[in-house]
Amino acid sequence: MIHCEQDLLANLIELSPKNARHKFRQCIFEAWDWKCAYCDKELNKDTATIDHILPKFKGGHNVKSNMICSCSKCNRLKGSNHLEDWYTPTYKFYQEERLGKIKYWMEQSSSIKILSSDNATPYITNDFDIGWVAS
Ligand SMILES: [Zn+2]
Repeated sequence: MIHCEQDLLANLIELSPKNARHKFRQCIFEAWDWKCAYCDKELNKDTATIDHILPKFKGGHNVKSNMICSCSKCNRLKGSNHLEDWYTPTYKFYQEERLGKIKYWMEQSSSIKILSSDNATPYITNDFDIGWVAS
């Protein structure tokens, strides 16, 4: 409820699209403990990449449940393959437990709570852009 100008200002969150995207990616990396979901390699802000579990051009969207923390090597090797076709026991770093974790991740709702900004809740717009509203 907004009672005065101060309330309005307190609820106003300014976030550029670039920062929003950065924050969103950051959340995914943090959720995976900065480790590659496929091979468990330790990553940092320079080496972590986002892999789209279902590739974008195959209909995958920019939603959390389809985005995963990956090292650049796994990301490149997976390429445009489907997860089930690529992440199999023939892959050097395959682990059943990790596959289970990835599947569990995909089943989660796409809502995400931002730890560093308690007052902001992101939402996904119709064209799958990420937006932010004050909660
Ligand atoms: Zn990897």
